[in-house]
Amino acid sequence: ALVLGIESSCDETGVGLVAGGKLLGECTATSMDAHARFGGIVPEVAARAHLESMVPAVRTALERAGVDKSDVEAVAVTAGPGLATALTVGIAAAKAYAIALGVPLIGVHHLAGHVAADTLEHGPLPERSVGLVVSGGHTSLLMLGDLARAPVVHLGDTADDAAGEAFDKVARLLGLGYPGGPALSKAALDGDPEAIRFPRANVGKYGFSFSGLKSAVARWVETAEGPLPVADIAASFQEAVCDALTAKAVAACTDHGVDTLVIAGGVAANQRLRDLAEARCAERGISLRVPPPRLCTDNGAMIAAVGSLLVDAGAPWAPPGLSADSSAPLTAASLHPVR
Ligand code: ATP
Ligand code: MG
Ligand code: FE
Repeated sequence: ALVLGIESSCDETGVGLVAGGKLLGECTATSMDAHARFGGIVPEVAARAHLESMVPAVRTALERAGVDKSDVEAVAVTAGPGLATALTVGIAAAKAYAIALGVPLIGVHHLAGHVAADTLEHGPLPERSVGLVVSGGHTSLLMLGDLARAPVVHLGDTADDAAGEAFDKVARLLGLGYPGGPALSKAALDGDPEAIRFPRANVGKYGFSFSGLKSAVARWVETAEGPLPVADIAASFQEAVCDALTAKAVAACTDHGVDTLVIAGGVAANQRLRDLAEARCAERGISLRVPPPRLCTDNGAMIAAVGSLLVDAGAPWAPPGLSADSSAPLTAASLHPVR
């Protein structure tokens, strides 16, 4: 089925068109620059930007895919988690398109979207895989089955900050600007990852913690004398995050006898994380799957990908009252709130 996917949980207005697991076309507009001067995302500003960008983004995505809106067979939309004001704009648009076109509406969990992004590049997931979702708001280690049918089981989560949040906060601390992840990884290119041994928090078997690491960097910066070795700090911080993430993800695979690891979410765009994961997976005969960097951060194609899987599996339509669930836990790919 040809599925139109709409994503508006944060500051990206994402639209994608997917059919049979293949990406046909997409368009992403971002309000990032409008938030930069505040040092973080302002929900009302994001919502207004979604409102302005939504229809043009849908038109552009259709044009790029070379299809007409009358060809669309289902509309999938992020229903949560995310900023309620921002999600609401995407849901309203998706409902309008679904009603106007007379096609099903599917509510999708944003993090299932991050995972499904990988299927657009590498095909369907195997029967069982371990998922590591690392993004701006979440850091979770998951046991995954068939995304459209099986429940998602959490092996571990972060006890405090998400990995992307840690990148953003440390980047700000180092004066590298916003958004922090890409800026910090760029600064780290010229640094020595072994210059400073920052702590790797150990929270249970599969849990994570990054607020102690962030504080350790802050203390290091406060007590440093002379000019700050920004590149070394960035590289050492990045190494601590990537070391903790990949060690636990690989351990989860080995412990559970799973031979596929999927890493997804904005932080999966990080080249050091990709390289370290690849090396550690190769050592243990685990096959690593990571979406191409442009599909790691928020986009509409990933939501269309989930929609496509759900529609093809015969999943139920969203109720007409589908509304934003800003803190929806990830238990399944489909998100039709029952609360
Ligand atoms: P969530 O998916 O949890 O709701 P989000 O949608 O805001 O949060 P994403 O778009 O998945 O987050 O990812 C954005 C995050 O990824 C930001 O924290 C950003 O700093 C981080 N990020 C992006 N690129 C990189 C990179 N190259 N290295 C490290 N972090 C990165
Ligand atoms: Mg974003
Ligand atoms: Fe995201």
